[in-house]
Amino acid sequence: MSDINDLAPPPSPLRVLHLEDDKLDAELAAEALRKGGFAASVVLVETEGEFERQLRSQPPDIVIADYNLPLWNRMEVLDLVRRKSPDIPLILVSGSLKDVTAVECIKAGATDYVSKDGLARLPQVIRRALHEKHQRSLRLQAEEDLARKVDELARSNADLEQFAYVASHDLQEPLRMVTAYTQLLAERYSGKLDENADKFLGYASEGARRMQVLVHDLLAFSRIGRNGFTSGSVDCNTVMQEVLQALASAIQESSAVVTHAGLPAVWADRTHVAQILQNLIGNAVKFRGKEPPVVSVQAEKTGRQWRFSVSDNGIGIAPEYAENIFVVFQRLHARSEYPGNGIGLAICKKIVEHYHGKIWVESQAGSGSTFKFTLPSHGPDERVPERL
Ligand code: ADP
Repeated sequence: MSDINDLAPPPSPLRVLHLEDDKLDAELAAEALRKGGFAASVVLVETEGEFERQLRSQPPDIVIADYNLPLWNRMEVLDLVRRKSPDIPLILVSGSLKDVTAVECIKAGATDYVSKDGLARLPQVIRRALHEKHQRSLRLQAEEDLARKVDELARSNADLEQFAYVASHDLQEPLRMVTAYTQLLAERYSGKLDENADKFLGYASEGARRMQVLVHDLLAFSRIGRNGFTSGSVDCNTVMQEVLQALASAIQESSAVVTHAGLPAVWADRTHVAQILQNLIGNAVKFRGKEPPVVSVQAEKTGRQWRFSVSDNGIGIAPEYAENIFVVFQRLHARSEYPGNGIGLAICKKIVEHYHGKIWVESQAGSGSTFKFTLPSHGPDERVPERL
């Protein structure tokens, strides 16, 4: 704890508003302040009206109030200061303040109290009160800075997302032209020019095709969270049928076995659920080891969410990459080893987080992976039955 005497110097002069009807007591307090090293400019008031006027017209650095004023209720003084100037420290001075009453006063908003026969403590109490006020304002400032930064970050993220959306959307049209005309060139002229020309046409067509997939995936990524999606109850068994259909040729080529036992309904957009399952099952088949892939999809209820797991017997992932792989364009292999553009898991993460869920992987290199993610079981306003 910092020593009160080491604290930053108080304002000089210290503006004190002193509520006291006894001139002698007021003088004793001023004397205690002088002795305690304060250059204080004290405004002494006796009545409620004067006190309120001063508080409004010349807000002081500190308020000292006699607890035993006969004219008005001391709780009202506290209330007034707290309402009008919540940040000004208020020190009560009392001839007889019992401990219980002191606690009540502090609960009601007094910063501290001293007894009239212990006025020598007043400077120390004031220093501590000013120090605490300073700390509070620093904390508040730090909170405001943080809130502003969070705000700026959210705005710049939104700008980036808008940019990615517009760019990927608008790139589609010229890209369609490039793809169509390289295809046309290949159809009309392959075999009619020299060997190099055929090779170059092949590269151009492949490049255009890859860029189409990339732009399509980027668009899918930046569409998540935009309008056009509606949440409702989605039966994951039906979605699974569609996903298996879409992945049929990869499953067949690799002799994969994909099992799923009685999947639940979740509260989400149907396309989103399909995107997650298709990416995860597609990866489980793609990143296979020497054995044919064995993939299992399951779900388990946890509170208002279903926790899904998609496990495989593939090449696995070293734990140090477990977080990186969910970042856009992060891949652990060359495209020649395993095709892909590194957007699939980023799409899954963005969708799951859109529903306030989580996605993660449990894996070791060489011994298969289990991807887990959560989705809501019910809509936000729906009541969940006690037992399911
Ligand atoms: P892509 O599949 O296009 O490479 P993803 O974003 O879907 O992109 O995956 C990112 C990376 O995570 C992959 O390149 C791969 O290295 C790793 N990965 C994803 N799923 C698996 C899996 N089931 N087994 C092993 N590695 C995986």
